[in-house]
Amino acid sequence: MIGMDQHLGNSRIIGHVKGSEEGPTMIFFGGIHGNEPSGEKAIQEVFIRIKEEGISVNGSIYGIRGNVSALLAGKRFLDLDLNRLWTDEKIEKINSKAKDKLLNEDKELLSIHKVLSVILDTESGPFYFIDFHTTSSKTLPFITINDAMINRKFSKLFPVPIILGIEEYLEGPLLSYINQQGYLSVGFESGQHTAQEAIDNSIAFMWLALVYGEAIKRSDINGFEEYYLQLQNSAMKNASFFEIIYRHPLGSGDEFHMLPGFQSFETVPKGKVLAEHNKKAVLALQESGIFMPLYQSQGEDGFFLIRKIPTLALWLSAGLRKIRMPALLPLLPGVSWADKKKGTLLVNERTARFMAKPLFHLLGYRNRVINKSEILMTSREATAKNAMYSGKWWYRNKKSVENGF
Ligand SMILES: [Zn+2]
Repeated sequence: MIGMDQHLGNSRIIGHVKGSEEGPTMIFFGGIHGNEPSGEKAIQEVFIRIKEEGISVNGSIYGIRGNVSALLAGKRFLDLDLNRLWTDEKIEKINSKAKDKLLNEDKELLSIHKVLSVILDTESGPFYFIDFHTTSSKTLPFITINDAMINRKFSKLFPVPIILGIEEYLEGPLLSYINQQGYLSVGFESGQHTAQEAIDNSIAFMWLALVYGEAIKRSDINGFEEYYLQLQNSAMKNASFFEIIYRHPLGSGDEFHMLPGFQSFETVPKGKVLAEHNKKAVLALQESGIFMPLYQSQGEDGFFLIRKIPTLALWLSAGLRKIRMPALLPLLPGVSWADKKKGTLLVNERTARFMAKPLFHLLGYRNRVINKSEILMTSREATAKNAMYSGKWWYRNKKSVENGF
């Protein structure tokens, strides 16, 4: 599709292949954070191989560069974190800025936004969005998703741990924005920033995703099983679901030092000293898993704590969403619709405390505090375009873990 390539032809696009047969539209992002070049390299390599080996493609595959200028500088960002700008309010603000007032990341955002619109306008879908990242600490490779069933079902195919509900703690990641439009979106953190393993894991993940999304036939790829095993080994056979129970926020100008040697997913006992924040010791409030400890100067999250989600809770939540239990929530005292179409509830803080977060979580709600007495809770199911994906093999797949070989 020459017209499209010309339209997009710039440093933004890592690659684009349009197959002759119908199929999905799969979009891979690399380098939304400029100090995380592994994803970009991986995407590049997969595109080269598709071309060199003449692998046939169904549908359309895109590779998109994130923060182009920060990638060149080797920095997480130049002015603002590009992965914290994707809210309707912030985008509107950026759109209304005078051209000469635009910060570097404002420009990056506008450019990516335009590319996204062109893809959504010209392709038919189903759409799959995958965003590659790496972390400053050592880590098992893992997936982060907003808690919608389409995301869960697709993520479950990959032999790596899955973190649910990060959107409750971060404002404005690109994937939350895309997920809000109803599309399947999966973040993959492939390892430590500079590790070769992080590139290899992203390459493996991309091949698996292309096969699972049916853009490429499994039999057309040399070494599919090896890619699967590589991810499984790198994740040390951990493919559980986790949820975040705590975020340690950093203010600008704060002095923060993580104690050396922590790795994501490592268990820490209650009372363990984790970091020094403005000359005060920070302790683990309960036994939990440590997650994304910060070992770089740029970033607003010192570390997170996680815990494994029991299988029963996962199973129960899938069932409750199917029978449309969430529709009954506004019958509860202190709960009303803020926006029924978007599935946003306004919940009295006391009700939220009484009903406890876990129930709302089970039903697919994640919250954002707006003031002392009220909480906005948004369902990922109300906006999810389930019909776009419900015919796919992985959506109908009943088995809990099924990689298919
Ligand atoms: Zn990142």
